[in-house]
Amino acid sequence: MKQQVSLNDSVIDRNHRIRAAWLLTGIAEPMRGGCVVVRGRRIIDIEERALGPIDIDLEDVVLMPGLINSHTHLEFSGLSSPLSAEGGFVEWVRKVIAYRQERWGDFTSPLQIERRRLDLQLGLEEAVQCGTAVLADIATHPYPLPEVLDAAATHPVMIWGLGEVLGWTEQRRQEMRLAFDGMSEQAKAYCEDRLPTGNDTNQLGNDRSDHNKNDGCIDYRWGISPHAPYSTSPRVIQWCIERSRLSKQVLAMHVGETLEEMEWLANRSGVFADLLERIGVGNVPSLPQWKTARDYLNHLSRAWRALVVHGNYLGIEDWELMAQHREKMSVVYCPRTHQHFAHNRYPLLAMRQAGVRVVLGTDSRASNPDLNMWEELRTVAAGGCGLGGQEILGMATMEAATGLGIANVLGSIEAGKLARFSVAKILEPGHLAVTPKLIWEHLWDRRDVALPQSFGL
Ligand SMILES: [Zn+2]
Repeated sequence: MKQQVSLNDSVIDRNHRIRAAWLLTGIAEPMRGGCVVVRGRRIIDIEERALGPIDIDLEDVVLMPGLINSHTHLEFSGLSSPLSAEGGFVEWVRKVIAYRQERWGDFTSPLQIERRRLDLQLGLEEAVQCGTAVLADIATHPYPLPEVLDAAATHPVMIWGLGEVLGWTEQRRQEMRLAFDGMSEQAKAYCEDRLPTGNDTNQLGNDRSDHNKNDGCIDYRWGISPHAPYSTSPRVIQWCIERSRLSKQVLAMHVGETLEEMEWLANRSGVFADLLERIGVGNVPSLPQWKTARDYLNHLSRAWRALVVHGNYLGIEDWELMAQHREKMSVVYCPRTHQHFAHNRYPLLAMRQAGVRVVLGTDSRASNPDLNMWEELRTVAAGGCGLGGQEILGMATMEAATGLGIANVLGSIEAGKLARFSVAKILEPGHLAVTPKLIWEHLWDRRDVALPQSFGL
């Protein structure tokens, strides 16, 4: 790249032809010297060879679809290094709770609120700098913060706030519901303020027409996240599922993350039973339809779209169920977080062969050193997963867009979609003159590629 790559409002009203050393559309073989023609926010054509004058020539870069991070918690972006996993998962959760308390307390002081705003913004900026075009962020109260969303509006990035809900007792359920409704209202108000009159704002984001280039809220969408089986009662989860169905909202839930969770599901024993006892929830009644991970998945399959986060210890029958519902259900693998907890090897290939849609996420800085999706892709490639380059990239692009219900606007470089890209600069020009197959090898090699950036409108 000879120049700082940027698209700005000056290109809105005319066609712009962008040529890249390599173009990876996500749906076709890599094209050497391929071009994308952009008008306004949209891609209007793909050309294997330039059919007209070049406006932007990316001579030493690989141009790819913008990356999709299907699971993160931006609120922990103020952490400079992950919280140690020593002592096991429950111990780590304790550290997370202590960190939250120390950093934000109960959000009563302006300083605490300001610190939170900065943390969210830090994470957002970091993700964008690494070529991320979409973030599915677990949102806890207070959220969203208009200042953060306004900052996001200056970047080519779409944020999903997935409002977290958890708890066992009736009192907690009421508190959570109030907090969630407050966040939803704030999200709705934020979008309504920015929509031209006449647009339907009842279905926040998911089914709206994105054809209006003045739609100021194209990049902010709202969903729901019951936390995990051990922290959230079936009654609350059921409410979240209904909410997802009625409002066409993405639902994300941590399921099958640890062996301890699987033990709790199977026998209501182990560290999670102790934890619930300690926090005063005590013996949780074993409801007939909510005994195994598969029971939870069965219920989640009724959501409008469900992201099953982690799924590290799910079994073959669970995979079969998720495969049956693959149009609406995806599992989110977070490779470096998986390594952080030294879990058993992730059954990526077997899951995919069973027909499960697997997408990728960074999780948060509480379990990952950064929010760079490119490092997640590299980790998968380096792990001998048995997948080709296109399949690996697909988990952070087309598969992920389908999982979130936004494949009509993002996930690949195709006519009609948003002009949101990630660009990877190849450091050794000689490495550009290779076969399509070899370009992947260079892409995954840290010595060959500079940190990808976001590029688009
Ligand atoms: Zn998470």
